[in-house]
Amino acid sequence: MISITKPEKIPQILENRGKTVTDNLCQNYLQDKADYQSGKKKFEFASDIYGSKSVKTALIKAQHGKCFLCESRITHISYGDVEHFRPKGGWCQTKEDKIKTPGYYWLAYNWANLFLSCQLCNQRFKKNLFPLENETDRAISHEIELSKENPLFVNPSTENPEDFISFRGITPYAIDENPKGEATIENAGLKREEINENRLELYLPLKELYLIANGMPETPFKEQAQEVLQRRLQACQSNQHQYSAMFRSAIKDNFKY
Ligand SMILES: [Zn+2]
Repeated sequence: MISITKPEKIPQILENRGKTVTDNLCQNYLQDKADYQSGKKKFEFASDIYGSKSVKTALIKAQHGKCFLCESRITHISYGDVEHFRPKGGWCQTKEDKIKTPGYYWLAYNWANLFLSCQLCNQRFKKNLFPLENETDRAISHEIELSKENPLFVNPSTENPEDFISFRGITPYAIDENPKGEATIENAGLKREEINENRLELYLPLKELYLIANGMPETPFKEQAQEVLQRRLQACQSNQHQYSAMFRSAIKDNFKY
């Protein structure tokens, strides 16, 4: 995960239709609180608003076409999902819990709550998970202040994920075993085999080159290898590159893992 800076200009559709629909959701909730809390009544959400082309385009640009969780490039192979940081239709504190309703319905069309995600991170891992440090602080409706919540999920637009999660080789770990980093790695499936394979594919050639260029005795090829290495090191640390956080950690650690 890396920091994400979204454009300050909120996509028009969220400002217009999104606001109107949100007002209606809040009104409905106030009229039938008990039914929404018990799950008897469920909110319907308009994916053509939060997942509209203008929202998606803005997120693709802000996230360099990569998933906000696993940093894999999405736009090469799919359109990606517009994912809600705080789940809109119901939440779970742990994977074993039943989904509790009504969820963060009032944030379904909220620009700050939307990110682009790959389908695996979103549909197989994060899903409705949104653990808090203290469950009793949860904002269970729009009437309750969100600021009391301390989510055990790194928010890449308000926090720097690289303060919480680093890498040893291709493997992510929580710095100083911080609980937010640990929960994020676990709940977003950031160690899953499919990403590890993809990471390794990019990581190994660069590691080999790094070791050759720095470790081998003087050869006629050393100068050329150094040149290639410098170019590749620069490229892999840029925010446009897949797994740039991993490469920044590796370079800092001199590829010792
Ligand atoms: Zn992902």
